[in-house]
Amino acid sequence: MIKPAGDIRKLNDRFFDETERDAVEIPLEEFMEEYESAEEYESAGYREVGEITDIPDIVTPVRDFFAEDGPLAKSALDGGRPYEHRPQQTDMAINTAMALQGRYNLCVEAPTGVGKSFAYLLPAIHYAKTQICPVVISTETINLQEQLIEKDIPFLREVTGIDFKAALAKGRSNYLCQRRLHMASAEHQDQLLPMASLALDLERLGNWLEKGGSGDRDDVNFRFDPVAWGYCCCEAGNCQGNKCPYFRSCFYWKARLSWEKADIIVTNHAMFFTDLKMKQDVNLEMTLLPKWSAIIIDEAHTLEDSAASHLGLRVSGLGLMSFLNRLFNPDNGRGLLLRKGEEAMNLRRIIAELKPQVGAFFALFENMLAQKNDTVYRLHTPKMVPNLLAAGLGRLRNALASYAELQEDDKNFKTELEAQVGRIDAFIDGIDAFIDMSLPEHVYWIEEEKGSVTLQGAPLNIPEILEKILFHKRYPVILTSATLTVRKSFDYFRSRTGFVNGTELRLDSPFSPDQVRLYIPRGMPEPNDEEYKNALVQQIPRFLDVTHGKAFVLFTSYQLLRHCTEKLRDYFDERNITLFSQGDMNRSLMLREFKNDIDSVIFGTDSFWTGVDVPGEALSNVIMTKFPFAVPSHPLIAARCERIEKSGKSAFMEYSLPEAVLKFRQGIGRLIRSKDDTGIIVILDRRVISKRYGQMFIESLPPYPVEYVN
Ligand code: SF4
Repeated sequence: MIKPAGDIRKLNDRFFDETERDAVEIPLEEFMEEYESAEEYESAGYREVGEITDIPDIVTPVRDFFAEDGPLAKSALDGGRPYEHRPQQTDMAINTAMALQGRYNLCVEAPTGVGKSFAYLLPAIHYAKTQICPVVISTETINLQEQLIEKDIPFLREVTGIDFKAALAKGRSNYLCQRRLHMASAEHQDQLLPMASLALDLERLGNWLEKGGSGDRDDVNFRFDPVAWGYCCCEAGNCQGNKCPYFRSCFYWKARLSWEKADIIVTNHAMFFTDLKMKQDVNLEMTLLPKWSAIIIDEAHTLEDSAASHLGLRVSGLGLMSFLNRLFNPDNGRGLLLRKGEEAMNLRRIIAELKPQVGAFFALFENMLAQKNDTVYRLHTPKMVPNLLAAGLGRLRNALASYAELQEDDKNFKTELEAQVGRIDAFIDGIDAFIDMSLPEHVYWIEEEKGSVTLQGAPLNIPEILEKILFHKRYPVILTSATLTVRKSFDYFRSRTGFVNGTELRLDSPFSPDQVRLYIPRGMPEPNDEEYKNALVQQIPRFLDVTHGKAFVLFTSYQLLRHCTEKLRDYFDERNITLFSQGDMNRSLMLREFKNDIDSVIFGTDSFWTGVDVPGEALSNVIMTKFPFAVPSHPLIAARCERIEKSGKSAFMEYSLPEAVLKFRQGIGRLIRSKDDTGIIVILDRRVISKRYGQMFIESLPPYPVEYVN
């Protein structure tokens, strides 16, 4: 095994051409001496799955670290912190180390409290130190990324004493582009910006930079219009790279360099899947993330949906209209193309003609939705509507590309124009693929979002895709989440994600089942019964009284939520308990208030079933009104079900039911977040006892004591 030279990583030399390498603060020559050829680099980081590898033993130090008298226990003791040895955590860490060392895939269900982030981080750190390429850790939520970067990684660095580098990889648009900021603030500003008020925001962003601002959008500590950010952030295809005068101080490229040099990269599923998709395209010169030596996907219960969303197709009417406005808005006479000359005037004419066509094209879809009286509609047949935009967008694209070629004297303007050509290409390709339904094994639908229609397509064969592009690679893939199994089996998860070439590990909860009591009222009507709504209004207060509020009441529809909110207002007033009903205020504010007001209650729908963390007494009671079956009429769900039925299986048993069980487990998982938490769970869906499959929900939970009540 060739040992990497310290922290030197290979930069993507396709971007940094041979003569300009000294523009980069990385001793690339030193690197190249060590790795004489690109081929050697290619093979140094990877081995065949199952092949015995010659990387140093990483299992022993990982096992030692989590031992009852190991460094983790000792550090807690020295720091006066309580420490409890968790065999599940050790188990996960050792299995992760073995999978990384043996380069095979691993899937771990690790319930809340196992301490899964340490259990994959430590093996990842040891493994990364033996590799040229970093280990990438992808998560669904920003909360988890922050926890890893701000808490867990610094802690492990301190306790282990291992010298390793970690970086948070964010999408390009999170970084300020100094070249674009200067361009947007310069002479053409009053013509370029759609609103004069944006100039003030750009000026403030400029001042922020001058005072040492980091260039990272998340660090800006004043309010600004997101539209202003769009005029000064980094954009794909709108970067001059090492030809840019700001390259040496560029925030984005500095961040990229830190990713190249890192041992551990933390990112989100959106960026990970976008990058994974780009890595399949051999013609693409650049990808977002560096090559990796292993992937760890946390919050992997969203894997199928994340992949479908990020590997799919999406064209928004609003997005296309604001793109055109950015080029030229005839209504206020502003835009990038407000320049002198015949060519610019011709382009403005093309846009002025194109905009009504865009309106007419998307109106066809709006009418479809209006006829169906729905916000979502599936398209079954190609060319159901004519592609009214093909000619206009093509004309604009060609004229813009020719105009860009003329701008040799103004490189900034030329780059900006070329980037817009790339974006038109993406609109043209997306609309073509949607109208022709040309992407294989995709479902297509239109959906109303924020008053505008989006054209969407999603692949249905995610298992086949992921098996090919993710699980059959030469790097190990570790998947983990608190909820991956149904009835303690990974069969369903495997069938939906294509997970292969590895092993599975299901860990028990480290908490006692006696921390929870599960109530099932016998007298509830079936959810489709007329009386069901009234019964809910009777039963919810009954169980809220057990804990004097302190509850999440989880609904599957807004309608039902609103009904119960209206009917139970007096109940809450009488008991002086605050009710937060979803829709009344911003979700994160609602959660903050809920945590502060100990007796308060949340009535919530979809977003409260998952990813909400309220440790302690404030959440002592989770009431489930109905099992969370997905809406079968949504095109993506319907198409997935059809695909299963076509293969001769039952869509209900193979998809709808296990999917609902997993979501149910997510909802239940909100209750117990530490060994000191206690509480009750109430199931108000009669199907738990009236249907045979009801038992599957119960059997997928830890062995909580169950009380059937009248
Ligand atoms: S290098 Fe690219 S992203 Fe950085 S300032 Fe220049 S143009 Fe903007």
